[in-house]
Amino acid sequence: MAVRRSGAPQPSGGIAVVGGGPAGLLAAIALARRGIPTTVFERDGDPRTSPRFDPDRSYTIDITGHGHRALQHVDATRFFDRRLLPFRGIQHAGRVVEHWREPGWTGSRGDIVRALTDAVEHTAEGRVQVHHGRRVGSVDVATGEVAWGPAGDPATTRRFGLVVGADGAGSVVRRAMQEQVPGFVVRRTELPNHLTMVELDRLSDQLDPHFLQALATRPFCVAGAIRADQDGGPPRWFCAVGTRHELRFASPDDARAWLRRHCPRVLDLASPDAVAAFARRRCYHVGQKLTCSALSAGRCVLIGDAAGPFPPIGQGVNAALESAMVLDRCLERAGATPEGCLAAAALYDRAWGPEVEAVSWISTKMLFENRLHMLRADVTMRLGLNVVGQAKDGATPWSVVAGRARRLGPLWW
Ligand SMILES: Cc1cc2nc3c(=O)[nH]c(=O)nc-3n(C[C@H](O)[C@H](O)[C@H](O)COP(=O)(O)OP(=O)(O)OC[C@H]3O[C@@H](n4cnc5c(N)ncnc54)[C@H](O)[C@@H]3O)c2cc1C
Repeated sequence: MAVRRSGAPQPSGGIAVVGGGPAGLLAAIALARRGIPTTVFERDGDPRTSPRFDPDRSYTIDITGHGHRALQHVDATRFFDRRLLPFRGIQHAGRVVEHWREPGWTGSRGDIVRALTDAVEHTAEGRVQVHHGRRVGSVDVATGEVAWGPAGDPATTRRFGLVVGADGAGSVVRRAMQEQVPGFVVRRTELPNHLTMVELDRLSDQLDPHFLQALATRPFCVAGAIRADQDGGPPRWFCAVGTRHELRFASPDDARAWLRRHCPRVLDLASPDAVAAFARRRCYHVGQKLTCSALSAGRCVLIGDAAGPFPPIGQGVNAALESAMVLDRCLERAGATPEGCLAAAALYDRAWGPEVEAVSWISTKMLFENRLHMLRADVTMRLGLNVVGQAKDGATPWSVVAGRARRLGPLWW
């Protein structure tokens, strides 16, 4: 992408990005490439000194077409080649059931944030300041004033030309828009979808780490690998366990009995300690879907999960990255001036709104342990109409994929 560094006046106060996750960091890289002074506030510590994965929440994440496009947009793919494993598709019992032939990666959220942090360092040339350990407590939507401090103590305030809310599913920026902007509403849908994880610490080279490994469908048990801590070491494997109801176990024996009934393969691949940790682990509700009536208001704009979290179908990080790219393209069109920023936010709203609505709709058609959804996935896969598979294609907007499915009528209601 040719980056135009504007000689025009910059947004006064620069741009604040609230949240240094995948969406926020990609936005910061893109803004830096335009020469716009950007400040990122991230409540957690520096990812380079934090653990690469959260032992209680380590699902492997695959970056496919949409995420790859966004990373190409900011010339950051090489950082992903270094930190993550190449992604090749899905296998079941040693057989490839879905081949991913385009570029893509698989890894932990920690790996993704580390790769983006490398890219910030290489591209930003001092134009991005990332403040770790700084939680934003409040935002004034009309003026762009942000209050932040360590541990949520809003000790410092400053005005920005634009505030990019990239602060995930529980977004403070979105909450400020709800509280301060008349007519801004957030619709909440709760779906029966839960997820937990068992580490497969007995697995070394039996399975190909470039593929997600489908171990069971009801419950949904899919194992994925992340790169070794040391070069040349074996990858670490984690198996996501998705269920309709929240899983709770009275003891490790209880968890072992459940696994024996539902996914015995896991017991060959996980040690007694890993099963005991699984028995204690919290099973998260991941069935929340939020839909915002708008994605921008005043001096604020929402990207990534802040704009509308949806149940996992392997597209959350991809959508987060792509939303930041779309915002950057809108800034390119509108110009990174004080007025241009506001026009860009409105353009982004119109461009990204239908996409987030579409991917969110697709995510509700593939819930864990839902017999109808599984039957439909099976039938549509045979007919070449599988929307979850098509959703990975970065060249086809989600609104197009969802539009095709909706035209098939009752099959997708
Ligand atoms: C169980 C599960 C499995 C998933 N599997 C996949 C998958 O296979 N593929 C995929 O693409 N996606 C997957 N996802 C989704 C993916 O993790 C998210 O969609 C993605 O991380 C969203 O990126 P984001 O940058 O928008 O938000 P986040 O990653 O949530 O980042 C937001 C950041 O903002 C910071 N923050 C929050 N509040 C504040 C504040 N007040 N002040 C300062 N900082 C703040 C947070 O610390 C965080 O670093 C999964 C999600 C879940 C829950």
